[in-house]
Amino acid sequence: DDAGVPGRVRVAVRLRPRNAEESVADADFADCVELQPELKRLKLRKNNWDTDTYEFDEVLTEFASQKRVYEVVAKPVVEGVLDGYNGTIMAYGQTGTGKTYTLGRLGEEDTANRGIMVRAMEDILAEVTPERDSVSVSYLQLYMESLQDLLDPTNDNISIIEDHKSGDVSLPGATLVEIRDQQSCLELLRLGEAHRHAANTKLNTESSRSHALLMVHVKRSVKGREPAHPSENGNNMNMAKSLRPPLVRKGKLVVVDLAGSERIDKSGNEGHTREEAKSINLSLSALGKCINALAENSAHVPVRDSKLTRLLRDSFGGTARTSLVITIGPSPRHRGETASTIMFGQRAM
Ligand code: ADP
Ligand code: MG
Repeated sequence: DDAGVPGRVRVAVRLRPRNAEESVADADFADCVELQPELKRLKLRKNNWDTDTYEFDEVLTEFASQKRVYEVVAKPVVEGVLDGYNGTIMAYGQTGTGKTYTLGRLGEEDTANRGIMVRAMEDILAEVTPERDSVSVSYLQLYMESLQDLLDPTNDNISIIEDHKSGDVSLPGATLVEIRDQQSCLELLRLGEAHRHAANTKLNTESSRSHALLMVHVKRSVKGREPAHPSENGNNMNMAKSLRPPLVRKGKLVVVDLAGSERIDKSGNEGHTREEAKSINLSLSALGKCINALAENSAHVPVRDSKLTRLLRDSFGGTARTSLVITIGPSPRHRGETASTIMFGQRAM
């Protein structure tokens, strides 16, 4: 198993259960997919007698728990971040297939429902030592090429600064909050969610038309050890152990709840729809190209093609770990969108 191997994108597919409406409306029809989780295979129905078969790193059925999804999709990436490597976890799929459920669910009603963001923060907070280490969070929304601060709604035009030598990305305008415990983390996520809702109501758009990004910066000091990683600031091999300054390991985790991948109906009566459609298509296709380049081990990853990929440039490729979960619904009515989501996932592998 190559879980967490840098440079390659791990791709999992997750099927959402039928909702109440689908259970009634599609009662006489089979699901458009059939999952074989032990074989890590998914069969997509072409017609009544024929299917296409695809393989993924993980196949998560409608019965997969949030805990299991966290363990296979996110945990290797989170462990890398604690060791000083950057990492990205992304959810891609049609609106309504469970991206936010998978990543952003707070699970305040039942902790079993908690999604990847909350579980990742919990694992990170459990590993760090408050006196020596720090964990800070930014929460952002990227809408039509404008980057908005979900922790400070007055701040809706954050610029991206790229260090061309190191490749590091920084967002000097973004609110960065130091987190000490799970309770304040939940409050922050709740606040970001409320601001996202308010911003989108004001812009007369839906959250499915924007990307949400949680960025977690983890800085740890590791005492009296040889540097294990280039991000550690030690060039002090010859010093006696007791004289060495603490080494600092920095890792950044980015969790990305992508905009809905469905083709947007351009006949919609909101005036901004066509522009939104163009912007979403641009950023998702730029992301797809970068992921394909990583999958093909290409020397050139075209990160400059969109703001989304510029934001992620230090979080995938190189030593960073990347995990993609594609979310699909069971309805035969959405077979076309499901097929295109599956193809996005296949091209990433
Ligand atoms: P998206 O963010 O992709 O638009 P959501 O996460 O909002 O989709 O999910 C759409 C609906 O389906 C929500 O009501 C959500 O609670 C439900 N849902 C999604 N995934 C699951 C799942 N694995 N199990 C149960 N309900 C789910
Ligand atoms: Mg959503």
